[in-house]
Order: sequence, then C-alpha cells, then structure tokens
Amino acid sequence: MREYVTLVCKECSNRNYRTPKKTQQTEKLELRKFCRPCRKHTDHKEYKK
Ligand SMILES: [Zn+2]
Repeated sequence: MREYVTLVCKECSNRNYRTPKKTQQTEKLELRKFCRPCRKHTDHKEYKK
C-alpha cells in the first residue's frame, strides 16, 4: 500500500496537496506550492496528525 503525505500551507494551514511518500525519505517534506486560499505560492510542509 502506498503512503501519502498531506501538505499544509504554512501561512493559512490549509491542507492543499497530497503526495506519495518515498520510502527512504526521513526528513520532513517542504515544498513551494500554489495555495488557493492565499492566492499565491507559499511554503507547504508535511502535515502530522
Ligand atoms: Zn495558504
């Protein structure tokens, strides 16, 4: 089964993206993505429950 990580916008905390998790990945993901609520590109980080 494939694991997914949820990416949340650092500015508005909206959960905007889901991306497949790579198995050997240990560090937290951080990506620059377009955030609809912010209407601009923002840093997204991995969401932890
Ligand atoms: Zn945002």
